[in-house]
Amino acid sequence: MRTAEIQRRFLDFFEKKGHAAVPSASLVSSDPSILFTIAGMVPFIPYIVGTEKAPWPRAASVQKCIRTNDIENVGRTTRHGTFFQMAGNFSFGDYFKEGAIDLSWELLTSSQDEGGFGLDPERLWITLWEKDLDSYEHLTEVIGLPPERIVQLPWEESCWDTGQPGPAGSTGEWYYDRGPEYGPDAPTGRQEVWPGDERAEDRYLEIWNLVFDQFLRGPGKGKDYPLLGELENKAIDTGLGVERLAYILQDKQNMYEIDQVFPVIERTQELTGRVYGEDAEDDVRLRVVADHVRSAMMLASDGVRPGNEGRGYVMRRLIRRAVRSVRLLGHDRPAMPELLPVALAAMQEAYPSLEAQAERIREVVYAEEDAFRRTLATGSAIFDQVAGQVKSAGGRSVSGTDAFRLHDTYGFPIDLTLEMAQEVGLSVDEAGFRSAMQEQRERARADAAAKKGGHADTAVYNRLLAVRGEAVPFLGYTDHTVAT
Ligand code: ATP
Ligand code: MG
Ligand code: MG
Ligand code: MG
Repeated sequence: MRTAEIQRRFLDFFEKKGHAAVPSASLVSSDPSILFTIAGMVPFIPYIVGTEKAPWPRAASVQKCIRTNDIENVGRTTRHGTFFQMAGNFSFGDYFKEGAIDLSWELLTSSQDEGGFGLDPERLWITLWEKDLDSYEHLTEVIGLPPERIVQLPWEESCWDTGQPGPAGSTGEWYYDRGPEYGPDAPTGRQEVWPGDERAEDRYLEIWNLVFDQFLRGPGKGKDYPLLGELENKAIDTGLGVERLAYILQDKQNMYEIDQVFPVIERTQELTGRVYGEDAEDDVRLRVVADHVRSAMMLASDGVRPGNEGRGYVMRRLIRRAVRSVRLLGHDRPAMPELLPVALAAMQEAYPSLEAQAERIREVVYAEEDAFRRTLATGSAIFDQVAGQVKSAGGRSVSGTDAFRLHDTYGFPIDLTLEMAQEVGLSVDEAGFRSAMQEQRERARADAAAKKGGHADTAVYNRLLAVRGEAVPFLGYTDHTVAT
């Protein structure tokens, strides 16, 4: 089943069940404190937390998402993209846990002829909060799910909250068992070690997260807070990973092999002469290329431009990482003119408006590749010189001053220096780099203050949004654990 068909089916199913089909919001959230739309619920936050009344009791969407906190996972796990699509159904004070469980079960397991996804019910597992007996009973008694496939977890591992006093709830996560060839059998029952174990998650793939927004929580640190009572208007918020379901239904090994992503890997193979499936590190790079080109394209289509801060910096980093990965695979010529049209064609069915935007997207992406190629041409020679000196002096680390010089004079972002150092077996004095950056900032601030008597600092998007218990950090100069 093609990915665009999965999206259509999802919306059709929920429309038939009385939901308003709401088009995807932009990747650029209207809330400036959130870098990107990271989940299907983001556009519905006011209705979920109750600050606004929802225009419909039930809604469904297939939301474009960007998660920068998953960037290091791309290509290494089977299931994390920087861009992905989250399909979700929402109830604002309408149906609750039983209704949400019934709908998800019906859509996942009813046959493809009946408009469902036709998953084998025997392969479905679910995680629940250990005290959520309503869901447990409904699953065992009405749905008929055997208790062995219900994993009961403590609150810390199964809750959702916003990080502040207000609504909170437990969750139910549907997992699909890909079979024993992908890992050992999961222990059954209440297990604190599963899921969360990367090897287990390769076999038991999380596909659909249901959030039961039920309680009012009080103040507290982390997950240590009191539940003060039940909300008057309970909400349901769910998120199904479209790419994850696609790779199951298309019988692929991971989300980079689906119809919306794989054509870019194929084109990169042709360009580089590398063959997917022959070398593990090459495979990671091929997947990174396909993922990042698609993400950059979707960001460009929502009006993001490469830059040095916030959203622009994320976009810059995605394009540069893709370009470098292609180079490391052995192709030195401009790659984007070869890859972007392929990514576009692969996404066209789901996003027909891409065609009209193609010209503008091309301009933005190609210009960034060109700029980066110029940076690489000058900076790489300087980097090699620095690395050579460090090594011949018997050192193991590039100094903070050199890393800063590469950044300041040659436009080398620190994560590039880190990546290149790692490739030649060196580390980088990051603390030294940061203090050199800080000194420069203070100098600039003092200069500006001297000139016009003080100025406001440029705003940086640094507020965190906790969604489903997961903090999504700002990805900027301080986030650079890098793997290429
Ligand atoms: P995981 O534990 O696998 O990282 P998650 O619990 O962080 O997933 P949720 O926040 O629950 O994910 O998001 C809802 C659904 O969206 C997930 O069940 C999954 O199917 C999908 N999803 C989440 N992150 C990604 C991603 N980076 N790439 C593709 N799909 C994703
Ligand atoms: Mg995650
Ligand atoms: Mg999870
Ligand atoms: Mg989840």
